[in-house]
Amino acid sequence: MSIVVQGVTKKYGRQLAIDNVSFEAGKGEIVGFIGPNGAGKSTMMKIICGYISATSGTVTVNHFDVQRQSDDVRRSIGYLPEHNPLYGDMYVKEYLSFVAGLYHLGRNSDKRVAEMIEATGLGQEQHKKIGQLSKGYRQRVGLAQALIHNPAVLILDEPTTGLDPNQIIEIRSLISEVGKSKTVLLSTHIMQEVEAICRKTIVINKGIIVADAAVRNIRNKSQTGGSTVIVEFSAPLLRSDFSPIANITQIKTLGGNKWLIQSRKGDIRADLFQFAVNRKIAVLEMQLQEKTLEDAFHELTSSKRI
Ligand code: ADP
Ligand code: MG
Repeated sequence: MSIVVQGVTKKYGRQLAIDNVSFEAGKGEIVGFIGPNGAGKSTMMKIICGYISATSGTVTVNHFDVQRQSDDVRRSIGYLPEHNPLYGDMYVKEYLSFVAGLYHLGRNSDKRVAEMIEATGLGQEQHKKIGQLSKGYRQRVGLAQALIHNPAVLILDEPTTGLDPNQIIEIRSLISEVGKSKTVLLSTHIMQEVEAICRKTIVINKGIIVADAAVRNIRNKSQTGGSTVIVEFSAPLLRSDFSPIANITQIKTLGGNKWLIQSRKGDIRADLFQFAVNRKIAVLEMQLQEKTLEDAFHELTSSKRI
């Protein structure tokens, strides 16, 4: 495993930001690290990179201990911080050469800078000042600096925040490409981002891991297991008419004789059908709403979790 986090807790003074978190990520995996603002994503990433230390617990990167072997860890990791702090007055190429120098790339430096400019599509912009670039291109410079020493592990903190839709697509495909041969941990608060590029997702909320699974399993991972059905009857009904049906948690009128019914039971279509039969009215239409990844995320991270 390239990243192994074991029982990590982080307190800022008295505030608990990370609470006994454990997870792993392996080579060739792009792992989505998702959670609402303030969940602890950036904190966890800074701990993995060794920029801040955990209050307790251990992290290894490429089998190096983050606390005791920090130099080896830094050589193994490329990090794109949340507020990508680039030097606006430096030229793109000059900046990347500067970063290459920090990693002591020596005679390899020029070659690596050229390769990174090529890989991140910065060819046209390489002689511009970083401060003159659009946010999307600055993000590419951020990725280029994270990749320049060919690290095995990439930590990307909200790499697409603030980009326009075209830039988002380009940066995502760049990350997907890079992720084939590396371990990528990518934080985001956008569920579609995870669906687009990650195979595995770790969901964090208030410093606690609430799900760690393949993306396709996360939908079913939310705990309530309830269902939502849109149903149209042939006759008008009152909200109170539904009282004989068990397990209903919410009833919403959609106009006409259409209703949206939420239940804590897996599928209540048969109950609704029986209800209509009992009242001698017809069901004109009935549709079970698929639980979206957004719903699952909301359920997993809302404070009223069951
Ligand atoms: P995320 O990246 O998921 O939005 P953060 O890791 O930035 O979350 O923050 C997690 C929690 O820790 C938040 O409540 C935040 O206010 C707090 N926090 C983050 N950095 C500091 C700090 N340097 N000092 C005190 N509290 C902090
Ligand atoms: Mg953050």
